[in-house]
Amino acid sequence: MSKYLDERYSALAAYVPGEQPQDKKYIKLNTNESPYPPSQETLDAVNVGETELLRLYPDPDGRILTKKIADLYGVESKNVFLANGSDDILNFAFMAYCANGRKVYFADITYGFYSVFANLHNSDYTVIPLEADFSIDAEKFCGVDGCVFIANPNAPTGLALSLKEIERIVKSNPESVVVIDEAYVDFGAESAVNLVKNYDNLLVVQTFSKSRSMAGARLGFAIGNEEIINDLHKLRYSTNPYNINRLTLAAGSATIDSQKYYDENCKKIIETREYTKNELEKTGFFVLPSKANFIFASSKSIDGGELYLKLKEKGVLIRHFTTERIKNFNRITIGTPEEMKIFIDKVKEIMEEN
Ligand SMILES: *Cc1c(COP(=O)(O)O)cnc(C)c1O
Repeated sequence: MSKYLDERYSALAAYVPGEQPQDKKYIKLNTNESPYPPSQETLDAVNVGETELLRLYPDPDGRILTKKIADLYGVESKNVFLANGSDDILNFAFMAYCANGRKVYFADITYGFYSVFANLHNSDYTVIPLEADFSIDAEKFCGVDGCVFIANPNAPTGLALSLKEIERIVKSNPESVVVIDEAYVDFGAESAVNLVKNYDNLLVVQTFSKSRSMAGARLGFAIGNEEIINDLHKLRYSTNPYNINRLTLAAGSATIDSQKYYDENCKKIIETREYTKNELEKTGFFVLPSKANFIFASSKSIDGGELYLKLKEKGVLIRHFTTERIKNFNRITIGTPEEMKIFIDKVKEIMEEN
C-alpha cells in the first residue's frame, strides 16, 4: 500500500476470488463456471468481422442485446440494465442505494462481495444470521429500515427461497430497494423477474457467467422498474459508459438466440448435481439440497480444509471457506458427469486413506 492511498481505503479488505492456478491442469470445481462451452452461435458471433469493428466504440446502451433480454423475460428495454458482469451491477446498487452511512441488510453466510461493497461504500450494514440449518428466515428481512441484498439461490449454501417468500420481503420494504441476486436461478429456483411489474423497489440481478458459459466475457444484467434502471444508467454513465465491449455484446446476443442450448446444459447440470449429491451421501457426507450449479457438503470423518487440500493434491479443485460457521464445509461446482465421477472416486480414495 502506498502512502498516497486515501485513508478510507487503507483498511478495506478486498474480495478474494476463487483460485485460478496455472501450475497444472486441474478438474476445476471451485468457481462455479459452466463445464460446457458456449454454443456454436456464440462462438460464430465472435468472428473476424466483429473483431475488425473493435476500432469503433461499442453501443453504450447495448440496444440489440437489451431488447433480446427484454423479449426473453417479457419486460421492456427500459427495464433492463447491462453491465460488465453482475458484480458491476451490485457495485452500482450499493453506490446508489446504501452508500455513505445508509443502511443495508444481508445474511452472514452469503456472497462474499456484499460486505466488500458495503465497506467500499461506507454503508451502515447489518448482518442477519442464517438459521441453524442455513436457511433464510424471510421474516427477518421483512420491514427492515434499509436496503436488502439476497442471493437466491444463496451462495455458498445453494438453498433457495420460494417466490412467495421473496415477494413478502419486497412488499414489506416499500421505502427501500430489495436486490435479488439470481446468479444461479437457472439451475432450478424461481425467478422474481415477474414481480418487477408490481414492485417499484425490486431489482433482480442475473449473469451470463454461470448458466450461459460466459464467465470470461463479463456480462451481467438487471431487471427492474424504469426509474431504478435509470439510476443505474446515471452511475454507469458517470463511471464508464462503454463498460461492455463489442465482442461481449455480440456473444451475448448470440447466446440469447441459442437459449435452448443453454437450457439443455442447465438440465444436464441439475441431473449431474443430484447424482453427485447421492454419491456423496452414500460416502457419509451431509449435503444441503441445492438449486444451484454447486453443492455444499461436509463430513464428520474429515475436516473441510483437509479434504480441500487432499483433493487439490489429486488434481481436483473445490472451494473451501475459512469462515468459522462453515469451515467444515466445501463448495463443489458441478462439472461434467465424467468430472464428477473422478471427483467422487478421489473423495472415496481420501476417505479410505483416512
Ligand atoms: C458469480 C456470482 C456473481 C458474479 O457474477 P459475475 O456476473 O461473473 O460478476 C454475483 N453474485 C453471486 C451470488 C455469484 O455467485
